[in-house]
Amino acid sequence: MITKIVKKRVLSQPVYEPGKPIEEVARELGFDPSNIAKLASNESPFGSSPKAVEAVRAWAENAWLYPDGSCYDLKARLAVERGVEPEQLILGNGSNEIIELLGHVFLAEGDEVVFGSQAFIVYKLVTLLFGARPVEVPMPEFTHDLGAMADAVTDRTRLVFVASPNNPTGTANSEDELLEFARSLPEHVVFCLDEAYAEYCESAPDMRPLMAEGRNIICMRTFSKIFGLAGFRIGYGYTGAEMAGLLNRVRQPFNVNAAAQVAAMAALDDTAFVDDCRRHNLDNGQALLEGLRQLGLDPVPSQANFLLVEFADAGEAFQVLQNGGVIVRPLQPYKLPNHLRLTIGTQEQNQKMLNLLSSYLHG
Ligand SMILES: *Cc1c(COP(=O)(O)O)cnc(C)c1O
Repeated sequence: MITKIVKKRVLSQPVYEPGKPIEEVARELGFDPSNIAKLASNESPFGSSPKAVEAVRAWAENAWLYPDGSCYDLKARLAVERGVEPEQLILGNGSNEIIELLGHVFLAEGDEVVFGSQAFIVYKLVTLLFGARPVEVPMPEFTHDLGAMADAVTDRTRLVFVASPNNPTGTANSEDELLEFARSLPEHVVFCLDEAYAEYCESAPDMRPLMAEGRNIICMRTFSKIFGLAGFRIGYGYTGAEMAGLLNRVRQPFNVNAAAQVAAMAALDDTAFVDDCRRHNLDNGQALLEGLRQLGLDPVPSQANFLLVEFADAGEAFQVLQNGGVIVRPLQPYKLPNHLRLTIGTQEQNQKMLNLLSSYLHG
């Protein structure tokens, strides 16, 4: 019995449920994959930056070489982008890996990690993986209650996670609020600010002055969302040089593959593409919000590329959409069994979703 030799905590570790892949739904329904809209994982409906795709094509004949494990060129480029020193950066196999690296560096059995009750679920998974205790703070109006989170900090707290905008709620906290919160945390706590959707907003909170004061703060970003590179798995954190050094110590030598590094560099230079994606997401998101309201639904206003929507029967709504070729995300793992998360798609995809919901809700 292999379970006898397994670490106890692995047996109780919850499993992450990703959005259903297009191919799987196509097989189940007998659909052509090209007729299926995947609006389940907050991927960009506008695809990858064409410059990134071109750069990766040109790179492909070098695939026999190991990547640059230090990500030298990309760090130099990102340092300029974020206005930090290269030594302040940690690259990851998606920003999910950075969350895990934080666990490696900071979490031991019995430590506590504070996050919101409807925060991105990977915080909880990583907490449990390291035998630490999740301290989940209620989120009134689906928004992080930073005062209550500060109150939840104890001597055992090591990490506090806030995503702004948060997934799956789409809500954000103001820069002033976040700065005040960061200043209020004691020295034995690391403030982890997840900025996965920052590029969808007009501006992002600037934590760098507080990092420069020597506070324990890390901000995390990803190439999976607005840059449209989810398949390459690349994200990064910027923090104090000492913390970046510790995180670099616990990663695998080649944790970020070479294609991802090449793609990320090119995508950073494709500012016109990113600006277009931001603008289209705003327009399409506003139209989708209004369309859903006209159907009598009440989506949570979002700062990101998805909408949180409550249904009388979310399971049924999910099935209706999926049978019509639109995959969205059920939210039982987030204790939101009556809600679905809808990624904002192209105009056409959103219209398809609205049409399906209209005939479901109003005959
Ligand atoms: C999508 C997402 C990420 C990014 O994950 P990657 O591992 O970089 O693909 C991180 N945080 C939040 C809140 C997200 O929604």
